[in-house]
Amino acid sequence: MTKQSLKQKAAIAPLLALLGIVSAGYVMGIDEGHGYTSIVFLACVALLLIASVIVYVLHRTLQHTKNILLSLATVSAYAVMLDYLKGMLGFSALSSLYLVFVFLTLIFGMAGGLIAFLYGFSLLVARAVLLSVPLSRYTVSALTSVLSVIAVGLFLSYEKRTVRRLESKISALEEPPVELSIKAENRTEPLIYSDIISEDGLRKERARLAAVLNERLYATISTIRSAIHPFTVVLYLNDTDARLKGREILSNSEWIVMDKSVGHDDPYIGWVLKNKKSLLLNEINGEIKGIPYYTRNEGIKSFMAVPAVKDEAIIGIICADSLEVQAFTEEHVRLLTVFTNEIIDLLDNTEFQYRLRYDMYEKGAMYTFVRTLSQHIDPTTIGQISLKEIARITGVNAGIFAVRDEKNTFRVAAVSNRGQELVGKSFVADPAPLLDGMAERQSPAINQITTSQLKVLYPSLYHLHGSERLFKYAAIIFLQTKIDEIGIIVLYMDAVLNERISIIMDTLISQIAISLYNSILFNKLQRLAITDGLTGLHNHRHFQEHLENEIREALRYKKSLSMLMVDIDHFKAINDTYGHPQGDAILKKISEVILQTIRDVDFAARYGGEEFCVLLPNTDVKGAYRIAERLRKNIESLYVDSNGKVVRFTISIGVAGMPEDARSKDELIGHADEALYFSKENGRNRTAVYGTIRKKE
Ligand code: GH3
Ligand code: MG
Ligand code: MG
Repeated sequence: MTKQSLKQKAAIAPLLALLGIVSAGYVMGIDEGHGYTSIVFLACVALLLIASVIVYVLHRTLQHTKNILLSLATVSAYAVMLDYLKGMLGFSALSSLYLVFVFLTLIFGMAGGLIAFLYGFSLLVARAVLLSVPLSRYTVSALTSVLSVIAVGLFLSYEKRTVRRLESKISALEEPPVELSIKAENRTEPLIYSDIISEDGLRKERARLAAVLNERLYATISTIRSAIHPFTVVLYLNDTDARLKGREILSNSEWIVMDKSVGHDDPYIGWVLKNKKSLLLNEINGEIKGIPYYTRNEGIKSFMAVPAVKDEAIIGIICADSLEVQAFTEEHVRLLTVFTNEIIDLLDNTEFQYRLRYDMYEKGAMYTFVRTLSQHIDPTTIGQISLKEIARITGVNAGIFAVRDEKNTFRVAAVSNRGQELVGKSFVADPAPLLDGMAERQSPAINQITTSQLKVLYPSLYHLHGSERLFKYAAIIFLQTKIDEIGIIVLYMDAVLNERISIIMDTLISQIAISLYNSILFNKLQRLAITDGLTGLHNHRHFQEHLENEIREALRYKKSLSMLMVDIDHFKAINDTYGHPQGDAILKKISEVILQTIRDVDFAARYGGEEFCVLLPNTDVKGAYRIAERLRKNIESLYVDSNGKVVRFTISIGVAGMPEDARSKDELIGHADEALYFSKENGRNRTAVYGTIRKKE
């Protein structure tokens, strides 16, 4: 039982109790005496009337119940007052009883009047029996009352119908022409993709389209009303399996229910559902009863129900009826069929519009995203853009983007919002355990696991966050090329991603993987372009570029810059004695030692075949000399093994520096070269500084 009906019962119960007391009091003749009992009794009557008013005001009771209760209360009050009135006014109040019933009929209708009459009459008879009054005294009054009730009731219902018919005719005349052309949607602000793609935005869009659809469905049944002037026209649409629900209604009746679902159990709708055919009823004798959208019989004489059939299934039914006999013909049925087709089109159209818009926004956003992504080559930026887009689509604001740096080890390149301190940290993640059904996979790329699974499967990832593990789920998304995983996106969430989001994410993820792969390739190529293949040092071309920058810096900020020119001594002989592969090994070895000897800010390049060049920014010639000597000695103490023979080798170095020895690039290189030549000339395995050899000359 609902709250509403409980409230109704609560309101009715005291009123019925009071009616009982008053009836009993009247029948027992309590009012015959004078004084105290009579006053109590009159107080009861007053209470009864107040209670009736409360019931009326509350409006909680059903229309029918309220009417009957009010008429009974009035009769009770009148019956009790009869004897008083007789004494006071000196006329036969009993004979005026019929006037009361007429009055009740006028106010509450025939049913209210008749029930009040029965109630009043039984009170009188019971009292007559108890007081031994001859019954004949009431008979005339009773008969007159009944006749009055029936006469007034008939008159009223005839009046009501005539008025309604006139009203419906007038309203049909006044019906404005219905505009069925598709209206421009009154949209005030432009639709934003993120509005649509988010769960909330999608709901809004659906609601908006539903509103447009309702408007158009209403327009359709308005047209039907203008065309065939029915008493009521109803559109039922498919609700759940094999049930239909009232969607739009236009009616002249007050006794309409909209939200009752109808199905095979209904005599008329059931027939249409079963036969998939239109139903046309023109009742000559009597009315058509039990039409599902009325709460009482309305005196319907003509009725038709036309199904909207799409792909052999009924998706809706239009019903129209009339109070007139034989109001509809086959022609009307055909007309309604045209309208059912229109409704099918409207529904299809809305669905199509929704899909179209959905696709449009999805593709538009993807396009923008891919374009933005393609403008960047730096993995950190790619990570930031990706995490932002993912947050926009999924609403997940916590995540990391990591790039693989060695097998199964990933380094965090970007994070969303909080957790900036994680950037640069590494963790181990192997895709293998996700493949055997551990994770919830709505798409092949997105693996959703609980935080406890994360702890077991990826402990180093789990511990990356320290104490900040507030989420229930993690989505592990490997960024893959055909060959292997090149990166990973981890999202931290309170609920798993739904299927729709996962599908969108799939496309997104493959785009991110492509971009990351491009960035890795690009960086690799860039490194190759500036690196010497044999030694791993910078190549000659890159050395020239770098030297120009360093000189510019040194001149601008008035800083010193020194250069070491290095050449292996008698390398030709080493090659000739031990072979070229051995020579290559020595070249590599020397390169390693150069890198170990210099600082991070220094720059070492392979200048030519067996010549190297080292740039020492912020270093004067004295400092450069010290470094050169350290390098020379480090090399001197080296040896390599060649088939059991110990091979030793030495280098000669020339040093020149800015601003002491040179003011331009060519001068610096030339003077370092001259110093190197000086070293060679003076016995090799030694360092010469340009400034000092000039002084000697
Ligand atoms: P010095 O510089 O002491 O005057 O004698 P050197 O024998 O080193 O003189 P030179 O500059 O004439 O010889 C350079 C030799 O270095 C010639 C070539 O065989 C060798 N060489 C140059 N590039 C490479 C290389 O990439 N690999 C090997 N194995 N040898 C190389
Ligand atoms: Mg040489
Ligand atoms: Mg040499």
